[in-house]
Amino acid sequence: MNRSVALGAPTVGQEELDAVRDVFESGWLSGAGPSCLAFEKEFAAVAGVENVLSTSNCGSALHLGQLVLGVKPGDEVIVGDYTFPATGHSVMWSGAKPVFVDVRPDIWSIDPAQIEAAITPRTAGIIAVDPFGQPADYDEIRAIADRHGLWLIEDAACATGATYKGRKVGEIADVTAYSFHGRKGITSGEGGALASPRADLVAHARKLHTYGIAPAITREGLAELPVPSFDELGYNYRLSDVQAAIMRVQVRRLPELLAARTRVANGYRELLGDLEQITLPVALDDRTHPWQSYVITVDPALDRGSVAMALRARGVGCNFGTYASHVQPLYGEQRELPVSADLFRRHIAIPMHANLAEDDVAYVAEVLRDVVSDSTHRH
Ligand SMILES: *Cc1c(COP(=O)(O)O)cnc(C)c1O
Repeated sequence: MNRSVALGAPTVGQEELDAVRDVFESGWLSGAGPSCLAFEKEFAAVAGVENVLSTSNCGSALHLGQLVLGVKPGDEVIVGDYTFPATGHSVMWSGAKPVFVDVRPDIWSIDPAQIEAAITPRTAGIIAVDPFGQPADYDEIRAIADRHGLWLIEDAACATGATYKGRKVGEIADVTAYSFHGRKGITSGEGGALASPRADLVAHARKLHTYGIAPAITREGLAELPVPSFDELGYNYRLSDVQAAIMRVQVRRLPELLAARTRVANGYRELLGDLEQITLPVALDDRTHPWQSYVITVDPALDRGSVAMALRARGVGCNFGTYASHVQPLYGEQRELPVSADLFRRHIAIPMHANLAEDDVAYVAEVLRDVVSDSTHRH
């Protein structure tokens, strides 16, 4: 049987197409328009805070978050090591230096016990990452940040819809950044958002995301002709109203999409829980896992590359997990972080998205079982 199961896939269809047609008819396609404002209001219910700004992607939300929290060139920012390039890169965009800290071996988010050793007089803040969506240890991280007068940003790129001890991820950090890239839980192809409990931070980010001037929509319908002047360097970090229209549909579908991913994760747990050569991902009881990806850890005795290629040869989409940042040449001298380095060598992401059927999950499990037992025998 030659089946093909994609590693990831967006769940979009007629409703999203209808929403795009409506924006076309409205004539407002560019960003920061009525469709973005409506999306931001609706996304506030997901973020758990009123203050939301739509952005071009998560990287721009991370950059804006640091700017409005006052990051300066030469500052150091502590970052959970096991993550996508956006996290460390966004620190460098402001001329600050990312200082990476090792992660928990079970859930792969920044290890709170190792944060204080990385704090120096130059440290401005902490960016904690929610790896593949599962929230980091925010009670512990927040306490450390408060003790040292540091700000806290949450890279919730994969964590839309996740909760930590009953709180929504957007309620916890000073700024939370989300991604709506095609590989995330809800998507407009590219896109992002920033949320904060503080209205002043989001108002400032709103100005900076549209070249540092008030968005055109705020000047509509006025009796005179206000002409803004440039007093601050801003960027074009806007989501378009076309993308916002897609996101409004995706937000409505979020509960259904999260439930579908949870069913896939439960299926894998049931079908693969006894397999000795791999470790399945841990989902802790005090937080919810939105399952942006499903990442397994292969036994050190197996060759990860051959396992991955054997899976692909049988039509099972897979990839490495995410990146150990501290080994990347771009970031310069960093301390050795053995846990993250080890995960970077041994992780494999297997198919996870809301379109998978029960028999897809069964097929992936069957192939994975065959492949790892073959690889074990050959060793
Ligand atoms: C996907 C991802 C990002 C980047 O998101 P973009 O919207 O592409 O900028 C940032 N951080 C993490 C942890 C991610 O997984």
